[in-house]
Amino acid sequence: MIKYNIIIVGAGPAGCYLAYKLKNQGLDVLLLEKKTFPRYKACAGGLSKKAYDILFSENKNIKNIIEKTVKKQLFVRNNKFTLTDPKKELIYMTYRSDLDNFLMKMAVDNKTVYFKDNVIIQKINKKDNTISFLEKNKEKKISYDVLVGAWGGNVRFNKFVDLYPFERFDLSSSWEGPVGPKFSKYFDEYVLSQIMKKYPGFVCYIFPKSELITAGIFTSKYPFPPVWKYLWNDFMDFWKLDKSIKPHYAVIPIRDPKKPVAKDNILLVGDAAGLADPFVGEGIYYAFISSMIAAKNIINFFKKENYDLAGEYNKNIDSKLFDVLKWARSYESFFNRYPNLSFWSGSECSLGNEIVNSFITGEIKYNEVKKIIKHSVRRIFS
Ligand SMILES: Cc1cc2nc3c(=O)[nH]c(=O)nc-3n(C[C@H](O)[C@H](O)[C@H](O)COP(=O)(O)OP(=O)(O)OC[C@H]3O[C@@H](n4cnc5c(N)ncnc54)[C@H](O)[C@@H]3O)c2cc1C
Repeated sequence: MIKYNIIIVGAGPAGCYLAYKLKNQGLDVLLLEKKTFPRYKACAGGLSKKAYDILFSENKNIKNIIEKTVKKQLFVRNNKFTLTDPKKELIYMTYRSDLDNFLMKMAVDNKTVYFKDNVIIQKINKKDNTISFLEKNKEKKISYDVLVGAWGGNVRFNKFVDLYPFERFDLSSSWEGPVGPKFSKYFDEYVLSQIMKKYPGFVCYIFPKSELITAGIFTSKYPFPPVWKYLWNDFMDFWKLDKSIKPHYAVIPIRDPKKPVAKDNILLVGDAAGLADPFVGEGIYYAFISSMIAAKNIINFFKKENYDLAGEYNKNIDSKLFDVLKWARSYESFFNRYPNLSFWSGSECSLGNEIVNSFITGEIKYNEVKKIIKHSVRRIFS
């Protein structure tokens, strides 16, 4: 039976970036993907500056798949329009099919990292460390030393490996199409965030690409209130978008911080571990961070005798992300309780807007309260 040191299931940002980090480390890595690449993925395609910087430091060619770099923001609170210009790069717009294909190519060298797409996984057998799948209708069985779940929101697979670290789910939906007559004057430079009085707890957005826009709606309210159809209708009416194009929906799993994201020789990364920002639904950055941590631990596992892979990975994930995501949860519950005040403070209040922007760029992390206070004091007295 063929054996790989590491099998990664899922070739999204988490799986591909992990494979890239494990390349040329003297290990055999197999990346398995159920869809045929390049594939569509429901996503707004916004790389925050902090996520972009990670990729740019690895491969400058990332700029070739950036459709637009946005510095300015349009906020709409009920019917009030606010334009801001923080004069710094905030979000790099791309299409997920391009991004994930770029990441896959960055990882795969067919010497240490191999890729198979269009495969159907049938069984993961934890007892004998094997995985069975169908490739071109042929059944294959391969063994592994380490298995990594990077299957995103396909949480059915979490049950197969007995690791279900979720507290709840965020829900996001996105629509891609022409800009329409009303947003066209903002299209070149602005990203939109909008709330509507009738739909508390929901944020609508428009992420402009070079020719089209991605419009979307996000909520961290769970269970999901059954208003989506009406909200999409009102949002599309507001911006006069083409209603014949239908939005795609997908969940973003959110971690229960008390539950482990690894056991024995099985690790979870990215959405499969619930490691996304529950406040704004940003997941690509956290996919990169969790994969960086996974790579470091997997390399140690193969180098050091008696290395506690799962224990160390759980510990490292918690020390790097526990606090940040805990604070994100507090911002999220504040937003759900006081949507108007919360949205106002991050947009119309210039100090609040500066702080939110520094979260996007990575200058300040959610949990860096001292930095937030220092910045606020300096700003108030300047
Ligand atoms: C509508 C929407 C908009 C979003 N917008 C943004 C945004 O603008 N910026 C941002 O940072 N985040 C955004 N997110 C969140 C972001 O998409 C995810 O957090 C991110 O994709 C997580 O990466 P991942 O690699 O963990 O999972 P994914 O990107 O979901 O990748 C998982 C991969 O695994 C594959 N797979 C699944 N099951 C199997 C299986 N059984 N066998 C083999 N392969 C399998 C899938 O086909 C997929 O390719 C958005 C999410 C949604 C739903």
